[in-house]
Amino acid sequence: MTLETTGLSKAFGGVTALDGASVSFHQGEVNALIGPNGSGKTTYFNCVTGMIKPDGGTVSYQGRDLTGKAPHRIARAGIGRTFQLCRTFPRMTALENVLSAVPPTGLIGGLRSARGRAEIERAMGWLTRLGIEHLAGSEARDLSWGQQKLLELAGVLMAEPETVLLDEPAGGVNPALLDRIGVLIRELNAEGRTFVIVEHNMDLVMSISDHIVVFDRGRPIAEGPPSQIRTDERVLGAYLGV
Ligand code: ADP
Repeated sequence: MTLETTGLSKAFGGVTALDGASVSFHQGEVNALIGPNGSGKTTYFNCVTGMIKPDGGTVSYQGRDLTGKAPHRIARAGIGRTFQLCRTFPRMTALENVLSAVPPTGLIGGLRSARGRAEIERAMGWLTRLGIEHLAGSEARDLSWGQQKLLELAGVLMAEPETVLLDEPAGGVNPALLDRIGVLIRELNAEGRTFVIVEHNMDLVMSISDHIVVFDRGRPIAEGPPSQIRTDERVLGAYLGV
């Protein structure tokens, strides 16, 4: 087990977003977290990555307690994440965006120093890997939505996280890019990265996931491999609202 929560709970006013969610994601696998709108998936990501503090319960990663820790501490522990609405700096170039993920100590001496040049090379490596190196000098705001998502992912990968949380990687992305994102996730996973993916595109989820956790009303109601989840009656019921 890599990322584990026990009894995670969070309410906003009178709305229960997480209702004692105990979940284990599998190390070295592509995990998916699915469920109807409002079932608590984003709140779960936000609690795990320190963006919001849970009201109760625990978050542990590789056996370390990360409950309520600040986002930078959680990032340093090896967890990276992307956001549903994609976070990039619109007026910075794609290359600058990726470099902004390097901690300041990595750029001591400036970009012209040997260390700076090595970081630029590494950033270009990620842009190339994600197929957007030709856009390195373009401002992020001039990239298509799908390209911005790839750019955000390049920035996350620049920090070399062991585990990557992706919030709707396929949302709003055109079909050609969608296939590439699926292949990329599998490749990055084959190199040893663990993924947890919140995604509504069921074709993508079913084709790339090893393990699926299904949320309904702030807690898991089913988990298992795609073959099992596909036919699980509780899952169908949750989506159909019965
Ligand atoms: P999902 O990601 O599965 O769609 P969310 O985690 O976004 O679900 O939301 C779970 C519930 O918590 C929903 O009822 C939502 O309206 C509520 N919620 C989430 N964030 C907030 C917030 N910041 N303030 C108030 N209610 C919120």
